Amino acid sequence: MYVKDDRSHLGRRLTTWRDLPRAQQPAWPDPLELRSVLSWLSRADPLVSPADCDALFERMGAVARGEAFLLQGGPCAETFAEASAVGGTLRTLDQMATLLEYAGASPVVRVARLAGQYAKPRSSSVERIGGVEVPVYRGDAVNGVSLEDRLPDPRRLRMAYHTASSTLDIMRGSGFFTSHEGLLLDYEDALTRGGYATSAHLLWIGERTRDLGGGHVGYFSSIRNPIAVKLGPTARPSDVVALADRLDPARTAGRLTFISRMGARKVRDVLPALVSAVPEAVWVCDPMHGNTFTSPDGYKTRSYDEVLDEVRGFFEVHRALGTHAGGLHLELTGDDVTECLGAGVTDLSLRYQSACDPRLNRAQSLDLAFEVAALLRTPVLV
Ligand code: PEP
Ligand code: MN
Repeated sequence: MYVKDDRSHLGRRLTTWRDLPRAQQPAWPDPLELRSVLSWLSRADPLVSPADCDALFERMGAVARGEAFLLQGGPCAETFAEASAVGGTLRTLDQMATLLEYAGASPVVRVARLAGQYAKPRSSSVERIGGVEVPVYRGDAVNGVSLEDRLPDPRRLRMAYHTASSTLDIMRGSGFFTSHEGLLLDYEDALTRGGYATSAHLLWIGERTRDLGGGHVGYFSSIRNPIAVKLGPTARPSDVVALADRLDPARTAGRLTFISRMGARKVRDVLPALVSAVPEAVWVCDPMHGNTFTSPDGYKTRSYDEVLDEVRGFFEVHRALGTHAGGLHLELTGDDVTECLGAGVTDLSLRYQSACDPRLNRAQSLDLAFEVAALLRTPVLV
């Protein structure tokens, strides 16, 4: 399949995705150790089966046709230390899904942001703590949150594999598919089998790595899984069309999901032109990442009311266009943390535990699900 309007390959050797520039990759200090871990990973058992990736592809096809709703959620960053405690998050997601299923009278596809969400893109590669400059935390697959663990360590990729495997054991029987941001291309490449990414059923490309000429878009175009791309408020309709042409040239229902994260103030203005550009994709709302701010006492936080307002805006846009509001992508936990303000939380200092972005706690998550249930129940007015 040829890519429309892309003549960049003319007069040059055709490149594979491996030659393309890769944004947001760790500066591993020990290339030999990295090579040995990647060689081990390339021989390891797949974490998920291609057949189960195909099963999710089918389910996402139902979402694309407006016959199902996606609920995707979990922490911003999983830590190895808390891997055994995912039960509460799974239960919360399942309660939300059950509520939505009942309200919408259509199936909810459950996709956890778990069992692999160990790598984070960052806006700066260093930070200053107590007057000292240290590498930023890039997720447990790369380095540790504590200051003495900030040097990237390739052996953490092997830990990521083992921890994902034990988390999947806990998830077995709970009816969830698994997903994470496919950020670390060496890790994903080493776990690719027969054209399938086998680290998770669904991978997504983050807002910072969706460059058309970059390695992430290149790698994702080479795999057969259902995939997603985050879109922030700077995305233009032509970017969305170009991404769809590259990642889903045949426009196969369920292949491509766009996860919009515009912010409550922008979603109603920015989203309509993007959805209209590729209405056949699955469109999902991430009401978290466009609504992050720092509280006066220094916590990275989000307001529950803004999160809810972005979800409402997302539904309004789809109602006006006559397209399907395909689902929600949330950062949440089953624990009683105090990381997002509102809906019962006023003091962030009580139990702020996130390794990265602020999550909705269990009560906030269920409140939000009740609100979304009401939106799903509202008849479409024509
Ligand atoms: C995330 O999902 O944690 C994230 C970094 O999101 P985005 O790529 O949308 O900024
Ligand atoms: Mn996040």
